Amino acid sequence: MRRAGKERTASRGGPPGGAVAGPVLRAVGLSRAYGEDASLVWAVDGVDLDIPAGQTLAVTGPSGCGKSTLLQLLGGLDRPSEGEVWLGGRRVDGLGERALARLRRRSVGFVFQAYHLMDELTAVENVELPALLAGSAPRTARRRAAGLLDQVGLAARARHRPAELSGGQRQRVAIARALVNSPLVVLADEPTGNLDSAATHDVLRLFAELRSAGQTLVMVTHDERVAATADRVVSLRDGTLADDIRLDGGPRLPEGAGADHGAASPLGALLDWED
Ligand code: ADP
Ligand code: MG
Repeated sequence: MRRAGKERTASRGGPPGGAVAGPVLRAVGLSRAYGEDASLVWAVDGVDLDIPAGQTLAVTGPSGCGKSTLLQLLGGLDRPSEGEVWLGGRRVDGLGERALARLRRRSVGFVFQAYHLMDELTAVENVELPALLAGSAPRTARRRAAGLLDQVGLAARARHRPAELSGGQRQRVAIARALVNSPLVVLADEPTGNLDSAATHDVLRLFAELRSAGQTLVMVTHDERVAATADRVVSLRDGTLADDIRLDGGPRLPEGAGADHGAASPLGALLDWED
């Protein structure tokens, strides 16, 4: 779909596939129930959300409020019980398994808290794998993977396996992997949840670079420092959208790796919970 010339707009100067007319990602009445009868839980309950091209959106809320479920629905890792998901101007919630898998591979880049790298593959092999699965020629995939590892500051670690890398390095490999097929959207679930301050700062700097390049990014986080780098923060309560705050012109990257975590700010109230 992102090859459709009419849908592309050159104005944002984003990455390949990053610029689409209208919202890149859209949820309409999106709902997901787990269990049945007495144990029925609406993990996501009637969420309407438009995410324009190039936006960095933070999704926050207390543990169990439905953040991960929402992200999985948006990325086609899970199917809604009700409602619609639109990606790149196309409705995707009703796609068959094969089409959905193809969509995930080509149009969505996932980043998880626990990295989910393949232990037996080197960094560069991890990064190139989705490109190979999407049909890239091996040499092309390797060149692209090496370039991305360079971009995330890990050119010298390309042949290391995950066990030989720090948590922050693993997450940077995972981010490179998420980008290898030039996805329409990058979806990150607590991407800094396992990282110390220095590694968190590295990841946020990468996300800031992605934003400058026009990449659409949705990140689930309950870390105020992370949410403060977004263009917009939505918060969930019991599966429904409770707040939608734009931080236009607001804070960007925190200064230094040891940013003050508990500082008072408008976001402080929004993000005031235990998780
Ligand atoms: P969050 O990421 O905000 O912590 P989740 O999306 O993981 O929240 O979960 C939202 C709600 O859905 C929780 O009540 C959780 O227990 C429930 N839930 C999530 N996944 C499942 C599942 N596979 N089966 C049953 N209930 C689930
Ligand atoms: Mg979660």
